[in-house]
Amino acid sequence: MDQATIERIDADHVWHPYGGFPASTSPRVVESASGVRLTFADGSTAIDGMSSWWAAIHGYRHPVLDAAATAQLQKMSHVMFGGLTHEPAARLAATLVDLVPEPLTKVFFADSGSVSVEVAIKMAVQYQRSLGRTERNRILTWRGGYHGDTFAPMSVCDPDGGMHAMWRGVLAEQVFVPEPPVDYDEDYIALVDDTLTSQRDRIAAIIVEPVVQGAGGMRFHDPRLVSALRGLCDAHDVLLICDEIATGFGRTGELFAVDHAGIAPDILCVGKALTGGYLTLAATVTTEEIAEVISRGEAGGLAHGPTFMANPLACAVASASLDVLVASDWRNRVPQIEDGLRTGLAPLADLDGVVDVRVLGAIGVVELDRQVDMQAATDAVLDAGVWLRPFRNLIYTMPPFVIDDADLAAVTAGLGAGVRATLASSSCQSSAPSSQSSAPSPRSSASSPRSSASCWSSEVETPA
Ligand SMILES: *Cc1c(COP(=O)(O)O)cnc(C)c1O
Repeated sequence: MDQATIERIDADHVWHPYGGFPASTSPRVVESASGVRLTFADGSTAIDGMSSWWAAIHGYRHPVLDAAATAQLQKMSHVMFGGLTHEPAARLAATLVDLVPEPLTKVFFADSGSVSVEVAIKMAVQYQRSLGRTERNRILTWRGGYHGDTFAPMSVCDPDGGMHAMWRGVLAEQVFVPEPPVDYDEDYIALVDDTLTSQRDRIAAIIVEPVVQGAGGMRFHDPRLVSALRGLCDAHDVLLICDEIATGFGRTGELFAVDHAGIAPDILCVGKALTGGYLTLAATVTTEEIAEVISRGEAGGLAHGPTFMANPLACAVASASLDVLVASDWRNRVPQIEDGLRTGLAPLADLDGVVDVRVLGAIGVVELDRQVDMQAATDAVLDAGVWLRPFRNLIYTMPPFVIDDADLAAVTAGLGAGVRATLASSSCQSSAPSSQSSAPSPRSSASSPRSSASCWSSEVETPA
């Protein structure tokens, strides 16, 4: 099919993420991808600074992952998981249990990150129910989070970013505390403690993205906040769910972000990089105790079972991806990428209109005081030979771990080009960041980099 035909059919019939018809910007046609590079239908290439949304940590067409997929294809691509099992699922479960924090030993395979969060919430509520605490069916979370697009995950996404006002009466009403401060703050933890005390009889679990809030705003916080949440959960006898779908498998410099805090959640969600970005697969991992309590309850087990649960092809590639990761130099490489991002992005901090530049592990973020001009920014980044997908007021990168120094420098240069293009093309219109107004924080706005934003569109924008 030629490029024009693909573009025409796409424009006429194909939904894209967070998209309408006609799309506000037309998608680029990718023909193939190899290493860290995408090749477009017109023959041009770009370094992928997004790892296909955190997933492709080893780059594209990795020989070991390709071989695993090919070998599994010769055996079977899929069989149902009800009443059947197979080596790819067993191998992957054993590998995962080895890698995740200590008491997490029971693996539920889900077919996407959102579904793994659905399962985590279901586990928490079913656990409480099995203990006779039927009123404990709400989830507490901090604002600024992102946990997926199906309804249960949406209910714990940031209420502004997740457009909760539009879904009133449809979404489960959860319990929110203000977004986490950047630095450890006892007053903040005291506020969470008070909320738990007053609402304990309704709350089954706390869910958070530890250390890095991803698609909700690419914000980082002190790992000690996560350990403090662990303490509060223990004190109030509620479960801690950590969503590491974005942060898992080395992205933040530790294998899991909870490792920065030295704690284990009761329930852990992983996805995205699990298959090295090859296939859709996620997992919800929990403790023996929780599995046991759920299994003793009225349902006699977990009431969930996706058709493509533990898809053998996906499991085989995931095992290969984790083997490659463990055997690789990621523990040295990710800090080197962190250095490269710091060096490459630092000059942008001086630009008028740049509110904050922050880097953690293989994640680099530039926050602007205005909405990114998607067309201008994307064109400028692509002209520099790089692929990035900004959202709201953020231009960011989380490159594949296999990127070399020269390509990394190209990514930071491309990111800079996107920043400059936005600053050159847009002018300040509104005077207050709309999303801030309805998100009161106990840490007054002084601590939030966002508070200095002077230009902000009131349009609701989404990660894509
Ligand atoms: C991407 C993401 C999800 C949703 O995963 P999908 O596979 O897109 O359903 C959930 N939580 C976090 C933290 C994510 O980054």
